[in-house]
Formats: sequence, C-alpha cells, structure tokens
Amino acid sequence: MAEQKTIFKRIIDREIPANIIYEDDLSLAFHDVAPQAPVHVLVIPKQGITSMATLADTDHALLGHLMLVIKRVAAELKLEQGYRVVTNIGQDGGQSVPHLHFHILGGRQLKWPPG
Ligand code: 5GP
Repeated sequence: MAEQKTIFKRIIDREIPANIIYEDDLSLAFHDVAPQAPVHVLVIPKQGITSMATLADTDHALLGHLMLVIKRVAAELKLEQGYRVVTNIGQDGGQSVPHLHFHILGGRQLKWPPG
C-alpha cells in the first residue's frame, strides 16, 4: 500500500493550495494557514524528511541551503526588527506535520520562553 502523503507533500505537488512565496529545486516557502504572528511562514525541503531527528549525515548541504532560504525569505518579508526560526520535533516538540519544516515568526515582539 502506498504511504499517505503529508499535507506538505500535497502542497509541494500542488494538490492543495498554499500561499507560496518562494520556491527552488530543493525547497518551498509558504504562509502558515493558522498564523501565530503577523508574519508566519514555513520553509520546507521538497525531499520527504520527517524532522531534524531523521536527518542523514549527508543532508548537511540541504540544511545549509534551507538556512539561507530562511534568511532570504525573512529579508523579502522585511523583518528588519528581528524574527524567530523554530522547528518542532516529534510529540514533545509539538510537531503536528511529519515533514521537516522551519517556522519563520515575526512582525511582533515575541515572548521567551515559549510554552
Ligand atoms: P508543527 O506543529 O508541525 O510544527 O507545524 C505545522 C504547521 O503547519 C502549523 O503551524 C499549521 O498551522 C501549519 N499547517 C497545517 N496544515 C496546513 C496547510 O494545509 N496549509 C498551510 N499553509 N499550513 C498548514
């Protein structure tokens, strides 16, 4: 039986709509459907990696690329005052979609520590 696609894989495959603001061969960035801040964007690899916990040693170039995409997207979103990058991992980390993703949160003063 074929494995069920995650919601993010369906966004990558254009099976469901998303407000996509950046795309290249390796990655995609789109606005979160339930924003937790005035700016809430998700940056994901197109490759089906579950989370940081399942990265392979050979993924270092992809990870570096994703970090630079985050920087570029944040600059395009004009988050000059600062922003936060978060990735939730597994159950205790509060991860709800099992496809690696980085939240970019900004546009307001963020609190610390997170809940
Ligand atoms: P997690 O809780 O796994 O760290 O983050 C998953 C994020 O994906 C949540 O912030 C949630 O609002 C967002 N999300 C879930 N489903 C969709 C969707 O269909 N479209 C978009 N754009 N975001 C989604």
